[in-house]
Amino acid sequence: MSNDCLFCEIISSKISANIVDETKNLLAFQDINPQAPVHILIIPKMHIASCNDLNENNIHYISEMALMARRISDAENILKHGYRWVINTGNNGGQTVDHIHLHLLGGRNMAWPPG
Ligand code: 5GP
Ligand code: ZN
Repeated sequence: MSNDCLFCEIISSKISANIVDETKNLLAFQDINPQAPVHILIIPKMHIASCNDLNENNIHYISEMALMARRISDAENILKHGYRWVINTGNNGGQTVDHIHLHLLGGRNMAWPPG
């Protein structure tokens, strides 16, 4: 839990969100400004600011997030046609919320390279 962190406030229900999935360690909710028909954010309940803060003790959250993304993709029916996982990091990476999050995007064709 970090003060002044938007996603920590969603975890503590101070700010509402459309929750898609939840486990002991993770929360998944709809992005407020969806960039695709399916745009879900998956976050650890533990405040980790970015990929730069990953270490041997907290790296398990990434595998839990990957498995949750896999499960949600099944529920959202995007497995067959494909989808994209994105974790923006830092200024050049386009990160705007400093609480690590995996974007699960699907339901349309994605361009490459990204902008
Ligand atoms: P980033 O740019 O850091 O990779 O992604 C942050 C994401 O959080 C953006 O896609 C943005 O639309 C989303 N977001 C920002 N504020 C809120 C909010 O209050 N609620 C929800 N559900 N999503 C938010
Ligand atoms: Zn946080």
